[in-house]
Amino acid sequence: MKGQSDISLTIPASSTGSTNYIMDYDTDKSRRRRNVCSRVCDRYRYIKFCLRSLTYNFFTNRNMVLDTCMEPLFWLVNHITRYMGPLMVVLVTILSSTVVSVVYICILPRCLETEAYVQFTFHLIFGHWLLVNIAFHYYKGVRTPPGYPPQIVPDTGVATICKKCIAPKPPRTHHCSICNKCILRMDHHCPWINNCVGHYNYRYFILFCIYMWTGTLYVCISAWPLFSEEFFDARKTFDSLLAGSVLFTMLHSYKVAQQNKTDPLMERISALTDSESAYHKAVVFQFIICFSVLIALGVLTAWHIRLISRGETSIEKHINDSERARLKKVNVVYKNPYNFGVKENWRMLLGLYGGRTFWLHVLLPSSHPPEHDGTRWESLVTPGYVSAALP
Ligand SMILES: [Zn+2]
Ligand SMILES: [Zn+2]
Repeated sequence: MKGQSDISLTIPASSTGSTNYIMDYDTDKSRRRRNVCSRVCDRYRYIKFCLRSLTYNFFTNRNMVLDTCMEPLFWLVNHITRYMGPLMVVLVTILSSTVVSVVYICILPRCLETEAYVQFTFHLIFGHWLLVNIAFHYYKGVRTPPGYPPQIVPDTGVATICKKCIAPKPPRTHHCSICNKCILRMDHHCPWINNCVGHYNYRYFILFCIYMWTGTLYVCISAWPLFSEEFFDARKTFDSLLAGSVLFTMLHSYKVAQQNKTDPLMERISALTDSESAYHKAVVFQFIICFSVLIALGVLTAWHIRLISRGETSIEKHINDSERARLKKVNVVYKNPYNFGVKENWRMLLGLYGGRTFWLHVLLPSSHPPEHDGTRWESLVTPGYVSAALP
């Protein structure tokens, strides 16, 4: 019995040992599994940490990521704009010259025939005044450098450092990725003048826009009687539309020749002489070009007049809007530090200082420089304007 009891005691003992062994085995297996999982997790966290530490930037946000993704597109647009610039200047010159030629050939003789000498004299004076101002301000807008910051900006003039030029960037200065330079008081890069609009040519740009818009309005009004006469004449418009298409005319002639009979359509086309047809096309073309420019340039000019009146550039408009929205959340009203009131803003832009007047220096071509060198700006927030910096 004792032996039985010993056996009976040992069995449970041996069975407990095997259970423990199995449990130990399971524990080791699960520990190893946990270790593997934990090592994989640690490795993942380590790689993630390394990547984040390499790419971390305090200023990283959704807009920055979007900008980075759009970088190839910006690169393409910048290069196209850079290489298309000279062609755009040639295009503006050719179109403007064509419109002026049509005015001389078609509209002025008509005015001489139909209007009194007083009205004709007004056309001559007003038209040439506009023409001189348009040509002068366009030429100056194209040829005048917009203004580049000096390598050494004295004392308080520097606001930041341009990370692309690695050079001082005075207030209101921005880097143009098309010119690949920093531009003083940069507004935008204009492909139509193949130049940046900045501190030294902003006046030429806005006056060119205003004079050009006035010129197109003047031409549209002056040319309207002649245009309506030509355009709403069914015979001439029909001829223009059909005869203008060389391919159509050739195909139609071939078809008529094949059928060997007279075609009334061709008879109508041939009813206009070459000079009549050219005259008709010139008048219609001129009016359509001027009307298109009137609408497009009107929107652009109105936009810039509003910006100048508010004392901000196109770039600053976006900066000011985002600052205004950001500070509004904390109940702070943002004020543009460069807005000195409509009259003062325009006076500064037009450079009316030192006895210069609106009548002589705005209504007539004038190549006077801006009031300041563009490296320091009087600010409503941090006054730092030094009149000794006058050029
Ligand atoms: Zn720069
Ligand atoms: Zn530029």
